[in-house]
Amino acid sequence: MLFRSLVAVSVLLAASPALAQEAPVQSGDHADLGAAAGRFVVPTNAERTRVVVDLLTEAGLKAEIQTFQGGNDHTGPMEGANVVTTVGEGPADIVLTAHYDAVKLRDGALSQGVVDNAGSVLALIQAAAALKEGLEGQPVAYRFVFVFTDQEELGLIGAKNFLETHGKDRIAAVINADVAAYGETVMYGENNGEQSAFVLAALRGLCAERAFDCVAFPNYPPSDDRVFSAAGVPVVSLGTQDAVGAHQMWLAFNGGRDNGLKEGFVPPVFQRIHSTEDRLAYFNGDDVARFGLFVADLALKLSAQLDEYRPEPDEDASAVEAPAAPNAAPEAP
Ligand SMILES: [Zn+2]
Repeated sequence: MLFRSLVAVSVLLAASPALAQEAPVQSGDHADLGAAAGRFVVPTNAERTRVVVDLLTEAGLKAEIQTFQGGNDHTGPMEGANVVTTVGEGPADIVLTAHYDAVKLRDGALSQGVVDNAGSVLALIQAAAALKEGLEGQPVAYRFVFVFTDQEELGLIGAKNFLETHGKDRIAAVINADVAAYGETVMYGENNGEQSAFVLAALRGLCAERAFDCVAFPNYPPSDDRVFSAAGVPVVSLGTQDAVGAHQMWLAFNGGRDNGLKEGFVPPVFQRIHSTEDRLAYFNGDDVARFGLFVADLALKLSAQLDEYRPEPDEDASAVEAPAAPNAAPEAP
């Protein structure tokens, strides 16, 4: 398999940072993250809920469980639980989402759900902790609402429920993360509507400033982001991969008939997720930590960018409809 052969190459060429990214987490600076990822390897999603709550609490963040009635035609009615933590205070929200539920495999066992999607959950917890620390004592215009959603795999049900209860009026922008457990290449979708253009602009700016390898996908696979774009809310969906995997995925989704991939080729990440192959072994704590800080920076950049369009307090509310931030809710709560 390609992934394994890349690992072998990276051992030989350890001096090359681009190829050294597959180093096992246990030997990296973020062994703690590797241990945290291991805690997601449990038999039920209810236990994963508990893991998210515990990790947030241990990071000094307040976790709120928001239960809902979910399930689909296949499962029947089934209670779900989103876990929410909030950083900062402000009249409008920048929402960051990652689903924590894992799929049930054909044999009835729960997938380890590390690549899909414990990696993103850990990256967002890193981001929340970094924002909390960075914003200590500073006035901010935006509240950062981290939503760890349940039942994404059953049809984006947790995200739908969050949007219904929370409402969209306060939401200035949403950043979703799905499939981000290894790799330094950031992938993002451009297919979330015109209203999301300013989010993409902020992201592209950050990629350039930080010299991150970012790959834009005209077609990007769906995740919780679709709930928000369907409601007209500005949103971007992000993931990470090794560079080769990211570009293979780009070709598979955007290359059309002549994408050059071998007949029947399935990008490695799609061989892993939703199978027994989605294992802890693929988790790379250094990559996840790097991505977590990137997401925190993106949230800050968005808040700064949105700020430029915020009205003076005495301005008429109708003057607020700035083209770049149509959903930035200006009214104080
Ligand atoms: Zn997922």
